[in-house]
Amino acid sequence: MKFGVHVNRAGGLGNALAAARTLRCDTIQMFSRSPRSLRPGLVNEEEATLFREGLAAAGIGPLVIHAPYLLNLASPRKETYEASRDALAHDIVLARAVGAEMLVFHPGSHLGSGVDAGIARIAAAVEYACEKACHTSHGGSGGRRDEGVDRMDAVLPRLLLEMVSGSGTEIGKTFEEQRRIMDRAPSVPLGVCLDTCHVFTAGYEVRTMEGISRVLDELDAAVGMQSLALVHANDSVGDLGSHLDRHANIGEGRIGEHGFRAILGCSRLSHLPFILETPHTTLDDDARNLAALRRIAGEAVSW
Ligand SMILES: [Zn+2]
Ligand SMILES: [Zn+2]
Repeated sequence: MKFGVHVNRAGGLGNALAAARTLRCDTIQMFSRSPRSLRPGLVNEEEATLFREGLAAAGIGPLVIHAPYLLNLASPRKETYEASRDALAHDIVLARAVGAEMLVFHPGSHLGSGVDAGIARIAAAVEYACEKACHTSHGGSGGRRDEGVDRMDAVLPRLLLEMVSGSGTEIGKTFEEQRRIMDRAPSVPLGVCLDTCHVFTAGYEVRTMEGISRVLDELDAAVGMQSLALVHANDSVGDLGSHLDRHANIGEGRIGEHGFRAILGCSRLSHLPFILETPHTTLDDDARNLAALRRIAGEAVSW
């Protein structure tokens, strides 16, 4: 199985690569920019090339980019909406520049305007962002046009809708909502990211084999198992159905070691990259969680 962590790219991509190597990650995720800012997180071509080559040499992949939390593609406020879809377009270009296979984002919050309207806005925004990204080169504000792009999925990273805990007016707390977004944006290579903390607090029981089987059957019926491309492995401070988005160290939250044993033993998930987003101040915290995940996976009985 492939395990990795969300690494910090502050101070440059070289730091992110060094952290990934030190932690002996199989795969990594990083933010496209500061998580609470919509200002572009630019990288230069040389830095991107060195990073890509470094990852390849260390055998680390896939690389996943996470868009900032501030993005709200479902916002009824024109200014926020337009800034969000432009930010997503930029992040798609950045993801391509650094060789990321996947770009994960939270679908958005409708802020009282209703789920239907929110879903329509998200779908339109991802289509807009992909279209714009296909005609923009990295770093160019005016953008040189890439010639000969007729199949978007040939040049785009896979765009993953993250399952969210459903706090406030968040969209994407059920597989059904994810399916409705995907249905409305058929030209975009969309997929789903399962965050263990988020699905659990959204109300899905993922601590038992029976629970996981039911969850995956529901996922399969809504979007198809082939849509599931990534797992965020996080324990949860909040309880089942609490809609609380607070991650805990592996084994120390409400999912617990027992729950992760069931999750990590599941053969329907074992081909997916598992990336940690557990609380961290130093690399030691990541190392501990990564070790816990690998140990539990090693002990888990495959089912
Ligand atoms: Zn996320
Ligand atoms: Zn997550």
